Amino acid sequence: MTNRIGHITKINGNMVTVEITTFVVQNEVAYILHGEERLKCEVIRVRGNLAETQVYENTGGLKIGEEVEFSGELLSVDLGPGLLGQIFDGLQNPLPELAKKCGFFLKRGVYLKALPEEAEWEFTPTRKSGDKVRAGDKLGLVQEKIFKHYIMAPFDLQGVFEITGIAGGGKYNLKQSVAQLKDQNAKQREVFLKQTWPVKIPISAYAEKLMPEEPLVTKMRLIDSLFPVARGGTYCIPGPFGAGKTVLQQLTSRHAEVDIVVIAACGERAGEVVETLKTFPEIIDPKTGRPLSDRTVIICNTSSMPVSARESSVYTAVTIAEYYRQMGLNVLLLADSTSRWAQAMREMSGRLEEIPGEEAFPAYLESRIASFYERAGVVRLHDGTFGSVTIGGTVSPAGGNFEESVTQATLKVVGAFHGLSRERSDARRYPSIDPLISWSKYKSFVEERHVKKGHDILKKSHDVMQMMKVIGEEGTSLKDFIDYLKGEFFDFVYLQQNAFDEVDEATAAERQKYIFSFIYRILEAEFDFPDKEKARHFFQQLRQEFRGWNSSPWGTPEFKKIEQDISSLLEENTKKDKVNA
Ligand code: ADP
Ligand code: MG
Repeated sequence: MTNRIGHITKINGNMVTVEITTFVVQNEVAYILHGEERLKCEVIRVRGNLAETQVYENTGGLKIGEEVEFSGELLSVDLGPGLLGQIFDGLQNPLPELAKKCGFFLKRGVYLKALPEEAEWEFTPTRKSGDKVRAGDKLGLVQEKIFKHYIMAPFDLQGVFEITGIAGGGKYNLKQSVAQLKDQNAKQREVFLKQTWPVKIPISAYAEKLMPEEPLVTKMRLIDSLFPVARGGTYCIPGPFGAGKTVLQQLTSRHAEVDIVVIAACGERAGEVVETLKTFPEIIDPKTGRPLSDRTVIICNTSSMPVSARESSVYTAVTIAEYYRQMGLNVLLLADSTSRWAQAMREMSGRLEEIPGEEAFPAYLESRIASFYERAGVVRLHDGTFGSVTIGGTVSPAGGNFEESVTQATLKVVGAFHGLSRERSDARRYPSIDPLISWSKYKSFVEERHVKKGHDILKKSHDVMQMMKVIGEEGTSLKDFIDYLKGEFFDFVYLQQNAFDEVDEATAAERQKYIFSFIYRILEAEFDFPDKEKARHFFQQLRQEFRGWNSSPWGTPEFKKIEQDISSLLEENTKKDKVNA
């Protein structure tokens, strides 16, 4: 690219306006040349001979007139073997290495290679010279941790290409070409183990996108049974500060039945993110017995980094998720919290002096949120295999008010809503997803009439409880009181899950179905209690038994013994002609 230099004419926080004499495009990356420093920024608006850029660094000390070099490239990420297990910032700098280089206080203007370029990978070709390929087609593979990491034809290829050369099996680094392609016009392309992709453009080198239908088992009973998430679907977790959003996402990242988890941590506080980073590598993956970090990529921004960098972290994360989907893997992207991302948009929009929408968020807030979640999906690849990206985002509205813009905009586009309530978290009813406000458009693997009964009893129980607050227990009929106890019982033994109990913290689909149908019989049963005291006592006993049952491993003698005990307890207390109704 020829010398494309502009000059700073205005500095407003992280927005720097540059006078240009050459053609620049939206989302083009530029560097502010400040002494020895090169500060990365991105063009967010072009008006006449002025390019407005958001700087991904602290802009302290910059001066009017300083030079800005335009790169001719869109903000992009590196995609290739070596991503798994890494912790990046929003610009894909590997954070541990950055810290090594800069010490504790991250220096600005230091950018590192996202992937180790010299590292060698054992490449095995899966296609041969003369084969015809399209964008995204698999050409060969390397082994990355426990996955076959496919090396694919560049995602930007137009039309059909012929392989004119492909490397034999052997070791290659990221800078060595492993295949050569040519199109009908003899246009040549080299293929490397690594390719780059602009973060704001979805990777779509697949045959078609399908409706998400298959459940994504998170092993959280409340989610899977009542408010399920589908593979390739979307969901959101709004909740007030401290209600358990982050813990819920961590549990999901550990137990959800997916291949790869990408975490975009846009921290509320630096401490929270540091906590994630410290604990994560130590967590053993229940599925593989290896560190969980082996199948995880973390993109991390804390509130102490410039807000503009938060914006890019969400896009970097989703692009990496799409990359692994192209290999035929199931990927879960967890963004925590999308409110911080929205704040970055608000801040920049303010600087651009755009006409503000509600709560000073830009008018395009909704469409930005929608196009982020739209990048989720199940796709059929050209070779007939399938891959998926599921997106779950937390929202942290001030004061837990779900009427605010980010929550509302998100609710319009996602397939499931897991609303956390302060009431539940204060009562330590974890996960604190409120079953009375949450919903899902996806289908649960639990029988429909069972699910309906569950919802009905929770609603009824809540109504009775509200009524009792007014008229007291004495004024409540025994029948209503039993419904109240049934709802509480269901909540305690099924919806709530003990994250500190090895067995209870994750419940497989098969077990959920079994336990739910067992509970269904209890919720349907008519009981023979002489008074409320007896009823209360019975449900207390039942709860106790279930607690033990929930902690006993599936199918063990202990599990069966408790099941028998519960069955006898039920037998003794149900109206005889109604058992197993
Ligand atoms: P948020 O992200 O919504 O601000 P956190 O996820 O950080 O909230 O949770 C705040 C605190 O609540 C945690 O530090 C923990 O003590 C408690 N907590 C949240 N979820 C659970 C859970 N499932 N089991 C036990 N404690 C929990
Ligand atoms: Mg949190």
